Amino acid sequence: MIISTKRGTPAAELDKIIQEFEGMGLGVTIIRGTDYNVFGLVGDTTILDEKRIRANPYVENVQRVSEPYKKANRLFHEADTIVDVAGVRVGGTEKVAVIGGPCSIESKEQAVRIAQLVKNAGGCMLRGGAYKPRTSPYAFQGLGTEGILDLAAAREATGLPIVSELMSADKIDEFEQYVDLVQIGARNMQNFQLLKEVGKMSKPILLKRGLANTIEEWIMSAEYIMAGGNENVIFCERGIRTFEKYTRNTLDLSVVPIIKQKTHLPIIIDPSHATGDWRYVESMSLAAIASGADGLMIEVHENPEAAWSDGAQSLKPEKFAAVIEKGRAIARVVGRGL
Ligand code: PEP
Ligand code: MN
Repeated sequence: MIISTKRGTPAAELDKIIQEFEGMGLGVTIIRGTDYNVFGLVGDTTILDEKRIRANPYVENVQRVSEPYKKANRLFHEADTIVDVAGVRVGGTEKVAVIGGPCSIESKEQAVRIAQLVKNAGGCMLRGGAYKPRTSPYAFQGLGTEGILDLAAAREATGLPIVSELMSADKIDEFEQYVDLVQIGARNMQNFQLLKEVGKMSKPILLKRGLANTIEEWIMSAEYIMAGGNENVIFCERGIRTFEKYTRNTLDLSVVPIIKQKTHLPIIIDPSHATGDWRYVESMSLAAIASGADGLMIEVHENPEAAWSDGAQSLKPEKFAAVIEKGRAIARVVGRGL
């Protein structure tokens, strides 16, 4: 971190600043000029609060030269992290992991049937919402525990690990018992209390990007989970909010190389929520694989017109199978299996 102080800062004030940072275990180098003084701080600067430093009236400018995250940082963990989800490995140069399933679980029969179709198509995990973050309180809120048990029955029938969204800490025991990959939804990406709680879980976490969050904020949310002790985090880009109206969100595929450059964690793409329209899901899925994504999460429904949520963006099982078929060819080109 580089800090410059205002012209005329008293020497006693400069000494106080040096002592404070040295007291925090940081290395401090000072360049004394006639007009300005510049401090260079080295060591674990993630603990520093820039805003607090700026509060000092003698401070002119503060500039970070290293990222504020440590555990997620590629700098301190060169190798790709591979997250094991009940035997399915995500990340590194492993196969592209394709997760499929309905937006909401509607019944046990539906969960089991779709799980079979997802598996036959080449999918490696089943998704399904049981606790749904709906914009309207009058919209279907999910089957709750019943939906989680339906997912567990589908895993029993097919062997596919299950992914579901956890919305509140009071359901952690249930998810710890039944769910293989715990999804933190876009709306909860900065629910820091929830992030701290899932940081104590033994299950891997699928961390979706918030509706309007920067990549750094997203990585800091992963850092929260990792700081709690749970280092098995998979990022999931699901589109961000922009001025564009032809799609539900704007899929930001540039996050794939950026997340891989900045962190060692896997990243998957959710083209369903990113586009909001089944017509665009295939092309965005193929583009995601080409960009180096470690996986996809796609909404699948047998009868999208009758889906209890997100039918417009759900693929019929045969279309999901076609995405995987075409995706295999792209995966080969980028040196991955599928
Ligand atoms: C979902 O995956 O079901 C979901 C609600 O996604 P998001 O949090 O990305 O909106
Ligand atoms: Mn959905």
